[in-house]
Amino acid sequence: MTDKGEKREWWADGIRFECQGSGQCCVSHGEFGFVWMTLEDRRRMAATLGMTTSAFTRAHCLLTDGLYRLKDGAGEACVFLKDKRCTVYEGRPAQCRTWPFWPEVMSAKTWAAEVAGFCPGVGKGRLHTGEEIAATLEEQRRSEETLVRGG
Ligand code: SF4
Repeated sequence: MTDKGEKREWWADGIRFECQGSGQCCVSHGEFGFVWMTLEDRRRMAATLGMTTSAFTRAHCLLTDGLYRLKDGAGEACVFLKDKRCTVYEGRPAQCRTWPFWPEVMSAKTWAAEVAGFCPGVGKGRLHTGEEIAATLEEQRRSEETLVRGG
């Protein structure tokens, strides 16, 4: 507990993370299999590809349970992953920009089992402070809310 009586998160002192370019987070891992796309995500990625948002959505997205997501690529990899590199990196969606600091994986148990198990960037590189992680979690939370609201 903190002075204010709030629960102190296990990651409050920060976590080292640096992408190692493995492409592992761009391949389906069970429940984390889909790349969800808010309207802002679709606009950004469409602009990166030089397409209109509606043309991009028709060409590259599907509706699942009323929510937009990217169509699957071959072998459960993202369709935009080529030679382990994201070919739309500048326009990648919030879900990809905020990885691995997602609300649904930030329990110590899920982190160890679901993230550290396959992501070689965990424990490497610079320390992301607790404040930075909290901000990234909030960004991802807002993106998920926007998606569910139909935005
Ligand atoms: S959009 Fe890019 S970063 Fe996101 S899953 Fe696809 S290849 Fe990976």
